[in-house]
Amino acid sequence: MKGNTNEVIPLFTEEIRCRRCGRLLMKGHVRAVEVKCPKCGYIQVIAAVTTKK
Ligand SMILES: [Zn+2]
Repeated sequence: MKGNTNEVIPLFTEEIRCRRCGRLLMKGHVRAVEVKCPKCGYIQVIAAVTTKK
């Protein structure tokens, strides 16, 4: 086995932004998190919507 490329590369593809001011809060895949914006102080719940109709 040639395990010379055994790096774990996270896929930070989703940008979570503040709903009020648009500041970038975090990147990554989020199921459900409550976060307070450091800029405007707006507390918001970010939850992944995976409902299938
Ligand atoms: Zn904000």
